[in-house]
Amino acid sequence: MPRNIYDDDHEALRSSAREFIDRVMRPRAEEMIRDKVIPRDIWQAAGKQGFFGFDIPEEYGGAGVDDYRFNAVVAEEWARFNMATSSCFGIHSDVCPAYIVDLGTEEQKQRWLPGIASGELIIAIAMTEPSGGSDLAALKTTAVRDGDSWTLNGSKTFITNGYQADLVIVAARTDASKGAKGITLFMVERGMDGFVNGRKLDKVGMDESDTAELFFDNVRVPDENRLGEEGLGFIAMMQRLPQERIGSGIANVAHAKAILEETIQYAKDRKAFGQSIGAFQHNKFLLAELVTTIEVAEAYIDDCVLAHSKHELTAIDAAKAKWWSSQVQNDVLDSCVQLHGGYGFMNEYRVARAWRDARVTKIWAGSNEIMKELIGRDLGF
Ligand SMILES: Cc1cc2nc3c(=O)[nH]c(=O)nc-3n(C[C@H](O)[C@H](O)[C@H](O)COP(=O)(O)OP(=O)(O)OC[C@H]3O[C@@H](n4cnc5c(N)ncnc54)[C@H](O)[C@@H]3O)c2cc1C
Repeated sequence: MPRNIYDDDHEALRSSAREFIDRVMRPRAEEMIRDKVIPRDIWQAAGKQGFFGFDIPEEYGGAGVDDYRFNAVVAEEWARFNMATSSCFGIHSDVCPAYIVDLGTEEQKQRWLPGIASGELIIAIAMTEPSGGSDLAALKTTAVRDGDSWTLNGSKTFITNGYQADLVIVAARTDASKGAKGITLFMVERGMDGFVNGRKLDKVGMDESDTAELFFDNVRVPDENRLGEEGLGFIAMMQRLPQERIGSGIANVAHAKAILEETIQYAKDRKAFGQSIGAFQHNKFLLAELVTTIEVAEAYIDDCVLAHSKHELTAIDAAKAKWWSSQVQNDVLDSCVQLHGGYGFMNEYRVARAWRDARVTKIWAGSNEIMKELIGRDLGF
């Protein structure tokens, strides 16, 4: 089914992202799996080529385009390569900059945005804590005012880019009596005394992404590193989660679609009982269902992307896009593994890795249960 949301400019950017992946990233795929990290020189090369910071105004080194479709085409290409790249680059380029652009002071924008756009400064966002991620309003990391600075104590976990991060947006409790209204955001920088980027966590999938614990032990954070107003951190996160969720939806469908294309080719090439395995009626029908499922999911995601480009995407529609696309992705990839037979369970086959990588998409960016909770509440329950 032809897609009609992207024009020639978007497609030109897509081609350049594809070329970048083939030239710079694909030859180093094994290195990234082995080291469980995307090397810094690749971040810098991507920044140099202008793939980070579509939301960052030109005066701070970004592209300054007010058209989310540019973010979206690049996000699709990262995901077609692998979920880890989509996650690491997505958090850095698609999720975090908006916080600084919207909430930062002039001094903060000048200090951090150019480095984010160039890939010199790797950024992460730390909401989740060992005691819980879904109930964000109950977070326990504290920041206590001490003159013109704050003392930060606590820990965060499962933080994408956490191991390499030079800069972390940290949500901390500044008022124990105010629940969600007692949360404030702080920019914590590598090298601050008492701030430790913990070990790279050993995950079931997405080996190439660095996911880490972060520890804060009496970290002195100057007040000029407070992002936005005191007590407005929770609302700031809620307002920006829809962009994270549609970004997640884009990646879910693009990733599953890429693996399905490879699976269709495999089903043509692989023979059993004297014919292509795809020619058995069961498999032919299954592939017909998978292709249809992906195209229908893609149409919904495209509509959300278009709405978001016009600043009209609602938090509820973003929640629908997130849970549905992650479920679709997991279902489709499970069938793709099945169609590959035993090879589908071998790590050297991309389909096996993709299947493992996809599992987390039902958990992160707000679990699918939390997405349904939001949708249910909107229905009046
Ligand atoms: C690879 C990876 C990368 C991540 N990256 C980041 C990151 O960069 N920054 C960050 O801050 N976090 C990140 N996370 C954390 C992620 O967002 C959380 O894991 C997620 O929000 C769930 O929180 P939790 O793990 O504490 O589960 P819990 O909140 O403990 O939930 C456990 C289970 O209970 C369910 N549940 C909870 N509340 C309800 C409810 N009200 N109704 C029904 N079911 C409910 C959940 O859906 C889940 O199934 C990442 C996680 C992973 C695995």
